[in-house]
Amino acid sequence: MNDPNIKNIKFLHSGLLSPVKKWGAKWSLWAVHLVTSCCGVELAHTYASGYDAERWGTLNFGMMRQTNLIIVEGTISKKMAKALRMTWEQMPDPKFVIVMGACGLEGGLFWNSYHIVKPSEIVPVDYFVPGCPPTPEGLMRGILALQKKIESGEAKATAKYQPVRLEEVLEIKEVKERKPPKSPVKIAEKPEIKIEPRDVEWEFGKSFVDELNQKLAGAGEAFITDVNRVYIRTTKERFLEVAEKLSEDFDHVKSVNVIDVIHEDKFIVEYTVSSYSSKELMPVLVTISAEIPRSNPRFPSVIDIWPSADYQEREMYDFFGVWFENNPAMGEKFLIAPEVETPLRKDFKIPQPNYVLGGESE
Ligand code: SF4
Repeated sequence: MNDPNIKNIKFLHSGLLSPVKKWGAKWSLWAVHLVTSCCGVELAHTYASGYDAERWGTLNFGMMRQTNLIIVEGTISKKMAKALRMTWEQMPDPKFVIVMGACGLEGGLFWNSYHIVKPSEIVPVDYFVPGCPPTPEGLMRGILALQKKIESGEAKATAKYQPVRLEEVLEIKEVKERKPPKSPVKIAEKPEIKIEPRDVEWEFGKSFVDELNQKLAGAGEAFITDVNRVYIRTTKERFLEVAEKLSEDFDHVKSVNVIDVIHEDKFIVEYTVSSYSSKELMPVLVTISAEIPRSNPRFPSVIDIWPSADYQEREMYDFFGVWFENNPAMGEKFLIAPEVETPLRKDFKIPQPNYVLGGESE
């Protein structure tokens, strides 16, 4: 009877208004948002339109002062334990706790990690929903079971709770030396770009490439790189000529790509095209490529031949600064941070954060 949680739950079952109080609590289990890990995705799934957990009067809510349920979504670390406890303390009584996921039960796949705490050591838990991750059906089952518990009065016997000394639970026994993260290691000064013909078993491809080379008549060189993959090397000057010839069979651009070969002071521009209109060519991807100097990154746009290249060309301008001539929308920014210039160029630098963790950084 000294257990405050039991006392508060008992309130639901006392007095003349008991049926109304129980009915109200049962159908208004509002859960405070406390997403700690990947189980949160399953919680979102449970409350989304497919499963629609709101049908049982349960609803996710942003403020702990108007909620009466915590659904602990997976892992609780020592840092989050304080937030969990603080949230629980601020919720009005009577309140309930459901813990979902193997991580919340016994640590799950982090069972031997130095910073994992069992939620049941921080707050009184009414139900555990096992699984990694638990399914939306599992979580709904937990909510329905909690409703039953509220209605029947079982809560008095199951929600055992001993007040915890948070400092003891959270005590870090072994203090490990913390080091600031290091800058990424440079892997290769001059990475090799290898796009070469490959001898693969693809009979249709061999005759297709022979015909293609005759059609191109020296405007570009086509070769097989894999089954259903053809590569054409050409120049910036003859690129549109090659594109025109290909457009007779290939009706759309799948992707536009730029490779920054900084050590050779050039960009490689690649268009990959495919066909929806020819059944035979449908699985075939043809990439047309040409090189341009880094100092003058301009390239002819193909939107008059393949309109679907439009937004991809604009994207490549945002990322690499390659200007596609004759695309009227060129320069209309796609990036979320429009003030950032050419972030995918190899020489793009982001400001280094200043780590101050005590002692000198390496
Ligand atoms: S139980 Fe599985 S899904 Fe849930 S938090 Fe842990 S690892 Fe993620």
